[in-house]
This record gives sequence, structure tokens and C-alpha cells, in this order.
Amino acid sequence: MSQRIAIVGAGQSGLQMALGLQAKGYQVTLLTNRTPDQVRAGKVMSSQCMFDRSLQAERELGLNWWDDSCPPVEGIGLAIPHPEQLGARLIDWAARLERPAQAVDQRLKMPAWMEAFAERGGDLRIADAGIDELEALTLEHDLVLLAAGKGEIVSRFERDAARSPFTAPQRALALTYVNGMTPRTPYSRVCFNLIPGIGEYFVFPALTLSGPCEIMVFEGIPGGPMDQWAEARTPEQHLAESLRILRTWLPWEAQRCDNVTLTDEQGILAGRFTPTVRHPVMTLPSGRLVFGMADAVVVNDPITGQGSNNAAKCCKVYLEAIVARGDRAFDAAWMAQTFASYWQYAGDVVNWTNSLLTPPPPHILALLGAAGQAPALAARIANGFDNPPDFFPWWADPAACQQLIDRHLPQAA
Ligand SMILES: Cc1cc2nc3c(=O)[nH]c(=O)nc-3n(C[C@H](O)[C@H](O)[C@H](O)COP(=O)(O)OP(=O)(O)OC[C@H]3O[C@@H](n4cnc5c(N)ncnc54)[C@H](O)[C@@H]3O)c2cc1C
Repeated sequence: MSQRIAIVGAGQSGLQMALGLQAKGYQVTLLTNRTPDQVRAGKVMSSQCMFDRSLQAERELGLNWWDDSCPPVEGIGLAIPHPEQLGARLIDWAARLERPAQAVDQRLKMPAWMEAFAERGGDLRIADAGIDELEALTLEHDLVLLAAGKGEIVSRFERDAARSPFTAPQRALALTYVNGMTPRTPYSRVCFNLIPGIGEYFVFPALTLSGPCEIMVFEGIPGGPMDQWAEARTPEQHLAESLRILRTWLPWEAQRCDNVTLTDEQGILAGRFTPTVRHPVMTLPSGRLVFGMADAVVVNDPITGQGSNNAAKCCKVYLEAIVARGDRAFDAAWMAQTFASYWQYAGDVVNWTNSLLTPPPPHILALLGAAGQAPALAARIANGFDNPPDFFPWWADPAACQQLIDRHLPQAA
């Protein structure tokens, strides 16, 4: 294949694409701003729980290198504290996933993939890409993909206001990677806890640099009592704040944490960003084009754990479109059409994720409550994380939602 392709950004989407194209015989340049060693030695970036269809996209490219070492995530559970009875749960259910999910620390996965790309003859360049670097890449290559995640450069893609309802971060985010947490039985799961008016907490098993661990994810409503990370100045204080939150609102989760320790000093993160959809084509001053992928153009709040999944699926759609294009030019029309194919899927992910950032309407509360009495309904919700379009129309349509509840509740009775 004579087409030359450049990718900026060595995250989930950029690396999956680089290795995927390389395997198909393309000449690939990967430009990213950190070396493998810098990524390994840096802070955690994500909780990166990936569900089966995303893992399948990796398996198809032979990139599933941690199946034996990464503890499986076998289910999803939901708990909502009782508003009046301290320590009791208003809603509490769990369901198995049809196929397990998996979370491999990006500090482990990305350096390994970067090194493999270079070993296989890929042109790996370490630099921080700005407009000049993008201009230079467009001169040398037939297609330049920008997969820079939340990097500053992606703001050069124009915000798509019609698809971006928020203009400010909706959650204060934090990660705490720990060892020593009591596992959930009889199967491992994402334990998702929703504290109305305060925020959300979820936790699940994962693989980090030193071996298996649990990842705690905090989503606090900005300015609220779960948004005090700025006061935690050391890793120990960050862990202490994590435990304070659990003891205050989620005692059943705090109970699992009597013996927890941080996996490492870099196993913590606090930050926030605005969920945003951008127009996927950037026109450089020269008039040449750059095509955006994954978080660079569709970035969601992590509340539904979809970002890495989107990255894997966006890569799959784009990779197939690149191969199908053969030797023809990657022009603006091809870019628009390729993004539109991805958006057919990603639009539902965005709508579902955004719906969880505002207080749940009555039909969603009824649905989440009914799932506690109807295991098949709980399973339907849990398995939707693997393919969020399955949530529609009922997630957004109260009448369809009621029909779904009615179909399941008699069975439970
Ligand atoms: C707290 C938190 C929890 C999360 N939990 C989950 C989860 O459980 N499940 C899930 O699916 N997703 C989760 N995500 C989201 C997920 O991590 C991202 O959506 C995913 O990594 C996006 O992949 P990407 O390839 O688009 O970008 P990234 O993985 O962010 O990669 C971007 C790459 O570009 C490089 N870069 C940036 N700017 C430049 C530049 N100017 N020049 C060169 N290189 C540059 C970066 O160094 C990096 O290598 C979470 C995110 C956060 C913040």
C-alpha cells in the first residue's frame, strides 16, 4: 500500500490505528509528545474500563496482550443511598455482563504498543504538535489524523454547538488506584454508586504497572462536597479524601477499604473538562486538511466509562474506511462521510452520557428501581454499556421506557 498516513497522539485511538495500519502495510508516522518511559513514569490518565465490543476491536488486530494478566470485570451493579436512612440503600442491584470487560492501565498499555510500533518499523517521533508540525506532516503524508485526546491542539477543531449542550465541566473528576480492597462476590463488577445532588463513585478491578488493583473513580458535582481535591496536596491526602467520601455517603463501599493502600505515588488524578463535540475536519492555514478522531472530536464525561471504548470503535470505523478508500485521495467529502458513520454510533453514546450528568427524570428513576426487581432488566442495562445504542429509544422516551418496565416486571413477579 503506497498511501502514507500520519497520526498525532499515542493514546488508545492513535496507537490502535498506527498498529492496525502498519499490519495492513501502510507507511505510518506516529507523532506524540511523550516517550514510552515518560508515559510509564507519569500519572494515571484514566480508569479505561473497556467492554467486549471494544476489546474485540483490539483482538481483531492482535492487540489483546493482557487477557491472562488483567482481572476480568464480570458485571455491573448500581447502588443509590437511601435519602432518609443513613447507611441503607434505596436501590441496589447487580447483573452479569455477557462477556467480561477489562481495564489495563494506560501507563502499561500505551508504552508497550508504542514500542511494538517502533520495533515493527514504524516511524515514531516525539514532539509536541502545533500548527507548524501539522503543516509539515500534511506535506509528507496523504492523510493526517489528529488523535490528541484532550490536548490543547484539539481546540483548533471548531466546537459543534448543536451537539454540545454544556459550556462548562459537569463533574470534578478524580482517580485513586489502590491495592487491598475487599473484592465483590460472587462476581467482580463495576460498582456504580449514585449519590443524588452530590455525585457518583464507581470502582472495579484492573491491571496496573505492579499487577492487579482496583480503580476508584469519583465524579463530584462542581463546587459540591465531593469537589475538594484541590485541598489534597499529597498522594496520602488524596487517598484520605477518597476514603472520607466513602465513609460519608457510601459506608458499604468504605467497608471494603479497611486495608487499602495506593498502588503508587502516581496512581492518583484530579481534574475536570467540558464534554464537547467538534467538527472533525481542521483546515490548516495552507488549506490542507487534518482529520480528527476519538476524544479529539467527541469527548464525553467519564461517568459512563465510554471514552476508551469510543476510541477503539472510532478507530475501527476509520480504519475500515481508510482501507476501503484504496489509492483515492482522502478529501473533505471522505472525511465527512467517515465521521458521519462513526457519529451514527457515537451520537447515542453522547446523548446517553449527557443524560446522566443532569438529575434523572422520573422514568429513569422508575427504570433503575424496577431493575432491582427484574434481573433481566438489570442485565439489559448492564449490557448496554457495551453498546449504548441499545438504550434507545427507551432511555429518552418515557412511554417506551414504561413499556420496557411493564414487559419485565410481570416476569419478576
Ligand atoms: C477520570 C477518567 C476516567 C476515565 N474512565 C474511563 C473508563 O472507565 N472507560 C473508558 O472507556 N474511558 C474512560 N476514560 C476516557 C478515556 O481515557 C479516553 O476517552 C481515551 O483515552 C481517549 O483516547 P484517545 O486516543 O482519543 O486520546 P488519549 O488516550 O487521551 O491520547 C491522546 C494522546 O495524544 C498525545 N498528545 C496530546 N496533545 C498532543 C500534541 N499537541 N502533540 C503530540 N501528542 C499529543 C497524548 O500524549 C496522548 O498520547 C476516562 C477518562 C478520565 C479523565
